[in-house]
Amino acid sequence: MCYTLFSSKHVKTKKEHECWGCLRKIPINTIMLYETWLWENEFVHGYFCDICENVRDLVFHTYELESISEGQLKEFDEWYEMLEKNQKK
Ligand SMILES: [Zn+2]
Repeated sequence: MCYTLFSSKHVKTKKEHECWGCLRKIPINTIMLYETWLWENEFVHGYFCDICENVRDLVFHTYELESISEGQLKEFDEWYEMLEKNQKK
């Protein structure tokens, strides 16, 4: 299984989106990372909340992964909480 990143940009959401990483519902008017990947000749789109964007970077660097599946960042709860706390300061 191999994902290739096709495009990556930050967008302000115009409707409620589920975050690809943590599956939380993110309200309208939130800046989210919107990415498109090419996966087995098909385009896959995903929105990431700002916390997942950071968690994902950590996961990629730590475990040398190249892709994650939907909801997989929920497994990294500790990091999520750590970053969430950090943001509220
Ligand atoms: Zn998220």
